[in-house]
Amino acid sequence: MSRPRGGPWRKWYNTAKWADLKQEAHTRDLYTCQMCGRICGGKYPAPDSPTADHKEPHRGSEALFFDINNIQTLCKSPCHDKVKQADEQASVNERGIWY
Ligand SMILES: [Zn+2]
Repeated sequence: MSRPRGGPWRKWYNTAKWADLKQEAHTRDLYTCQMCGRICGGKYPAPDSPTADHKEPHRGSEALFFDINNIQTLCKSPCHDKVKQADEQASVNERGIWY
């Protein structure tokens, strides 16, 4: 699957700050998917691996991106993949561009 590129926030995913936040969110959520409730004990890219999802799309906002309260644990598939697809589709419809 190809992912849309672009946006300065992309590099935020590579920061230690994000890695820490993600870990903190997973620990807080006890590695439980906040959407379907199953335990995400797998290793990426397993469907049951934990992913950190922004509840409110950050849309390039650094404050939202790094807000632990805006991050929830989701299983990679189907929950996170489904959310991402819907979100990306919505942003395309809203703004006509991928980012
Ligand atoms: Zn799930």
